[in-house]
Amino acid sequence: MKLKRRTLSLFNTLPRRVEPVVPLVEGQVSLYTCGPTVYNYAHIGNLRTFLFQDLLKRTFLAAGHQVRHCMNITDVEDKIIRDSQGGLPADASNEARHEAMTALTGRFTAIFLEDLATLRVLPADFLPRATAYIPQMIRLIQALEAKGLAYVREGSVYYRISGLPHYGCLAHLDREGMQAGASVDADEYERDSVTDFVLWKSAKPGEPWWDSPWGQGRPGWHIECSAMGMELLGERMDIHSGGVDLIFPHHENEIAQSEGCLGHQWVNHWVHGEFLLVEGQKMSKSLGNFFTLRDLTAKGVDPIALRYAIQSNHYRKVLNFSFEGLRAAENALKRIRAFRKRMEGEGQAGSGPWKEAIDPLARLDQAREAFWAAMADDLNTPEALAAIFTLISDLNAQDDHCALTREERDAVLGFLEETNGIFMAWPREEADLDSEVEALIEARRAAKAAKQWAEADRVRDQLKAMGIVLEDRKDGTVGWRKG
Ligand code: AMP
Ligand code: ZN
Repeated sequence: MKLKRRTLSLFNTLPRRVEPVVPLVEGQVSLYTCGPTVYNYAHIGNLRTFLFQDLLKRTFLAAGHQVRHCMNITDVEDKIIRDSQGGLPADASNEARHEAMTALTGRFTAIFLEDLATLRVLPADFLPRATAYIPQMIRLIQALEAKGLAYVREGSVYYRISGLPHYGCLAHLDREGMQAGASVDADEYERDSVTDFVLWKSAKPGEPWWDSPWGQGRPGWHIECSAMGMELLGERMDIHSGGVDLIFPHHENEIAQSEGCLGHQWVNHWVHGEFLLVEGQKMSKSLGNFFTLRDLTAKGVDPIALRYAIQSNHYRKVLNFSFEGLRAAENALKRIRAFRKRMEGEGQAGSGPWKEAIDPLARLDQAREAFWAAMADDLNTPEALAAIFTLISDLNAQDDHCALTREERDAVLGFLEETNGIFMAWPREEADLDSEVEALIEARRAAKAAKQWAEADRVRDQLKAMGIVLEDRKDGTVGWRKG
């Protein structure tokens, strides 16, 4: 059966309304998602954003589009430098400083990829590390300088926001409030201090650096995504996404850098996911409500229940994580899985004609249309899932009285498979082993590349526990089979 390609609409932060996504190349969506800053474990708030982006990507795939997905790894940034350089003597060489930084970021990149695999998040097609794109960043800054949009001060380079008439278009900033001439060196700042921002930071003592036309230094955070996005997805893209905290300054500044250089619109759709709170509060270590995925799995939480608890809520609403919510997710999943099992089996004869009997195939079509209408309308998962649950009640009742035929059962299973392709929470047994194994192999490769042997061994043991035997091939790639 040829898949019908469906058009999906998403809330676009730029005009502040829901708009259809019309890909630049028909049937092929280009997607850039801002990746993690790898200096520590991702917390479940970060993971909410990555799960929302996986939902978005899988919905496009299930809707018949191809997706070219780039997610960067931010492996040079203020917090990374703060946390990686502490143990080094003041006169440590630049090489030693880079090594210390790479040891930290390599370790947490591997851990991050492993967390994504556990949550059944599809790996991106491009996973660039910022430190591998320093020449592209330097060229981009030079292009901005040549256009009068950047200026040098004491070895650092700043973006001149007054030079770009539409600076502030994404965050809807009031241009009156902008502080002409003032500048900020930090990567993160609030919207009440809108100023020229830093593109290249001259090296301070105790920091790793690269050579540049402006002397020794390192890139600012914002330029990293502009350079990697333009290099890997081209001069225009369909969707760029992150959590709402990235709207300002990060994405505003990405627009300024890329559009300042290109001279035309860079991204058609800006899509932002809301925050996760824990028991009603912002996560913090001191409140004791700061959870990583590993904290939760150590408490016996099923990662797929977490995935479902997050994805079953609308991505643009603040989500309050609670253990009660997790239990509700587990119960919802039990219900869908039991229904899938029931449809896999044969129906009982039933009690004969029933006056409330329905046509199961017509009912199924209706559920499928309701499901897709909800998903196509800004990923309205609560409504889409409601369509599944109504179908389950109706068909359970029907099946109690007059059993569905094998053909009807298979049609229902087809719909469950289609929707599981998005939610990944009611699989056929062993069905999605491939993608999980591939993702874990990628995490192990990243751990080995970063010389994180203990982490690499942990992943190998996890694969072993799943009954997977790895085979290191001559060409350096890794194959696998079920042992
Ligand atoms: P970071 O590793 O800090 O660069 O963040 C990775 C992603 O997590 C970004 O897209 C952030 O917007 C997002 N994020 C950070 N905190 C939260 C939170 N509490 N809830 C949802 N997303 C978050
Ligand atoms: Zn970014």
